[in-house]
Amino acid sequence: MFFLSVGALVAAALTTAAVSTVFIFTMEQASAKPEEAPAVSEVESEPAFSSAQPPKSGAAQANAKPEESPAEDDRIVLVNYAETMPEDFHRNIVNLYGVDVDERIVEPFQQMQAAAQADGVSLWISSGYRSVQRQSELFDRAVEENLGNGMGQQQAEAVAALSVARPGCSEHNTGLAIDLNGVRENFDTTPEYEWLTEHAAEYGFILRYPEDKQEITKIRFEPWHYRYVGVEHAKAMQERHFCLEEYVEYLENQH
Ligand SMILES: [Zn+2]
Repeated sequence: MFFLSVGALVAAALTTAAVSTVFIFTMEQASAKPEEAPAVSEVESEPAFSSAQPPKSGAAQANAKPEESPAEDDRIVLVNYAETMPEDFHRNIVNLYGVDVDERIVEPFQQMQAAAQADGVSLWISSGYRSVQRQSELFDRAVEENLGNGMGQQQAEAVAALSVARPGCSEHNTGLAIDLNGVRENFDTTPEYEWLTEHAAEYGFILRYPEDKQEITKIRFEPWHYRYVGVEHAKAMQERHFCLEEYVEYLENQH
């Protein structure tokens, strides 16, 4: 009975997501105007915060920047059920309030946090960078719980993967993903979530696993999980109502 209800819930969630996704695309296509398409130079323009730029070790790299395609911008690296971390991914993990994150997040997060605070909204990071080893432990623990509930190995892993990414497939491994305010199931009913929905993109953060994109992300709605992609990318995604998978595909099609 438990299996059936989990399966039915997942199926229902995915069906709902599929229906609303189709609806949104139809609406967007109907209202799309040619001038809304951004010039490539807009997407490649400099971010608002200096720390959003990956560190450059030499002039050669700095000179190479304008040649770089947006899809090669590692702030929008795709790490998901199908894509593992690229081996040449550059990150510099630093400690922020006791949580490990990539240094590119520090200044944007602090600015976002200060702006939220000024509006009476308190934001804090409960989880940031995770090693593949740590992700492996979390995944194994979730599988064990499901096995304990009587599932078979395959189902236990599949159900676990809906809420805990498989080792190597978690974007927490990039250092660019953060879980906010203690990972609460009802976070989407809070003023904090409302504030983030309105302002996160202004600081380069996106809600990574939206409720109506579950069919694409293969991850259930996580109102607490935000991903740093840089201001220009975050705003472009928000305007088009794209999740990261859709946005990366969109950028690839521009070339
Ligand atoms: Zn997360």
